[in-house]
Amino acid sequence: MPGQKKDASLNLKEARNKLFNNMKNLKPIFINNSKIPVWLSRLSPINIWAFSFFIFVWCRGEIAEKTKRHETIHFQQQIELLFIVQWILYGIFYLFGLAKFKSGEKAYRSNPFEVEAYNNDQDENYLQNRKRYSWIKHV
Ligand SMILES: [Zn+2]
Repeated sequence: MPGQKKDASLNLKEARNKLFNNMKNLKPIFINNSKIPVWLSRLSPINIWAFSFFIFVWCRGEIAEKTKRHETIHFQQQIELLFIVQWILYGIFYLFGLAKFKSGEKAYRSNPFEVEAYNNDQDENYLQNRKRYSWIKHV
């Protein structure tokens, strides 16, 4: 019946929206007191305290709530870009920043993924209210 078909597609849409909303609540796996940020800092222009990659976040010490939010924003950015696209874009933005500012630290701070995370990591409700692809406005 035509009516039934319409209902089925509506349910599919609802299910997809529900899944997308539930993904907002996904958190990475936090690993405290890790040496990984220490090692990465040797290759990086900044001193790394915590580092988000794939479903993990490594932290040098006990991770604070604000840092947890910052790294969870990066986790959500990775989810919406299927991880690999975010890693590639992050690298491209970094290289553009490096060419523009001739400073690794400025390139890092002007990266749209970092601008979104730094601008909002003090807001406790940000992750709940965040719109998908919010980093785009900082490009
Ligand atoms: Zn960051």
